[in-house]
Amino acid sequence: MPHTPYPSSYYAASANPVPARPELQGEVETDVCVIGAGYTGLSTALFLLENGFKVTVLEAAKVGFGASGRNGGQIVNSYSRDIDVIERSVGAKQAQLLGQMAFEGGRIIRDRIAKYNIQCDLKDGGVFAALSAKQMGHLESQKKLWERFGHTQLELMDAKRIREVVDTDSYVGGMLDMSGGHIHPLNLALGEAAAVESLGGVIHEQSPAVRIDRGANPVVHTPQGRVKAKFIVVAGNAYLGGLVPELASKSMPCGTQVITTEPLSAELAKSLLPQDYCVEDCNYLLDYYRLTSDNRLIFGGGVVYGARDPSNIEAIIRPKMLKVFPQLKNVKIDFAWTGNFLLTLSRLPQVGRIGDNIYYSQGCSGHGVTYTHLAGKVLAEALRGQAERFDAFATLPHYPFPGGRLFQVPFSAIGAWYYTMRDKLGI
Ligand SMILES: Cc1cc2nc3c(=O)[nH]c(=O)nc-3n(C[C@H](O)[C@H](O)[C@H](O)COP(=O)(O)OP(=O)(O)OC[C@H]3O[C@@H](n4cnc5c(N)ncnc54)[C@H](O)[C@@H]3O)c2cc1C
Repeated sequence: MPHTPYPSSYYAASANPVPARPELQGEVETDVCVIGAGYTGLSTALFLLENGFKVTVLEAAKVGFGASGRNGGQIVNSYSRDIDVIERSVGAKQAQLLGQMAFEGGRIIRDRIAKYNIQCDLKDGGVFAALSAKQMGHLESQKKLWERFGHTQLELMDAKRIREVVDTDSYVGGMLDMSGGHIHPLNLALGEAAAVESLGGVIHEQSPAVRIDRGANPVVHTPQGRVKAKFIVVAGNAYLGGLVPELASKSMPCGTQVITTEPLSAELAKSLLPQDYCVEDCNYLLDYYRLTSDNRLIFGGGVVYGARDPSNIEAIIRPKMLKVFPQLKNVKIDFAWTGNFLLTLSRLPQVGRIGDNIYYSQGCSGHGVTYTHLAGKVLAEALRGQAERFDAFATLPHYPFPGGRLFQVPFSAIGAWYYTMRDKLGI
């Protein structure tokens, strides 16, 4: 059978050792079949196993093969659209519940790391960097908004203060979130997979779900086997393809690219980011960066709509990096890769149930490291019959992309052009 390895990346090159996980052969029976071993699938599996469910996870390639093993590693709180936007679209009561959950994902990650002793280079502190007075004004409102929902580890920074945490002239100010931070994302996923197995969960790699027989007793088919389950959780996100057509029509995979420098000298690394915080700017098409545990700079940015792989990633991302840190002009790039996240029209996640027994969560639209961990908990609660928090997400409106799948890319490319212009003009 074809074997899909990890794409070449700094994360794959520095991954903790893992056991071989054989593909599914023959028929098995379980309580819950989870499709996809990214953070959404692994977090759901872990919460279910902690509550006594029997769980089988099917992964088309390898644990963390998708966005969860390729991302910027930034623990960013809240959702891709903030709570005020949710308040305006669904009303105060539902927004209150969603707002209370907006900071839970980061806590779940830290709990998991501590409980299962996951070695993934956790560092506290994330910076939102403002490129204009308008963006700074937005951060001031965001601080007030987040504090209204009990999130208080925030500090606004003026131009002088932000210079103390990131060595660039690019920013007019920013906001530091000490409950943000960063991790080695693939090692987090691998540690969570080990935790799943320590609780008796089974993970099959190289085992894509190719068909679901729906109904009272659903069955998930892979090329060499099948899983009979009481419930199915679909967690394939941007890599799901057409397995569940209802989900494909309402979302669009988008690529974003990341580069990693050669190891920097300890002095140079410390001069760039003295406190070792991670940084993302406030543009719609944002740049994000951080140091690794071996003093490399990981820098990401750029979006390719429709998830086509760009031919020369370094040519796209290196100029962005040099704009922020011209002092890196002689530094070599050791790794460059692309990964897909799933965009929704509202930029809010899509959570729901198809029929009585197929649950899903997808489409966190760029910021998903914390949300996906929360999603796992919320899905597991729903399977245990506690649906209040699940319903708060499930009743968010889902919009199909205008014109359907064929027109998704041009439509969003127009959107991207509009937001790029907005970022450039600082409006
Ligand atoms: C380059 C990049 C940088 C990012 N940086 C950040 C960041 O710094 N901070 C942040 O908050 N968010 C970031 N994100 C977003 C974040 O990584 C994602 O939102 C999150 O990882 C999504 O997790 P997931 O489990 O839902 O999906 P994925 O991690 O994509 O996992 C889905 C899995 O399902 C599997 N799968 C798909 N179909 C099938 C099938 N039919 N059968 C079996 N398995 C299947 C795939 O192989 C894959 O392993 C970034 C994303 C990318 C791509």
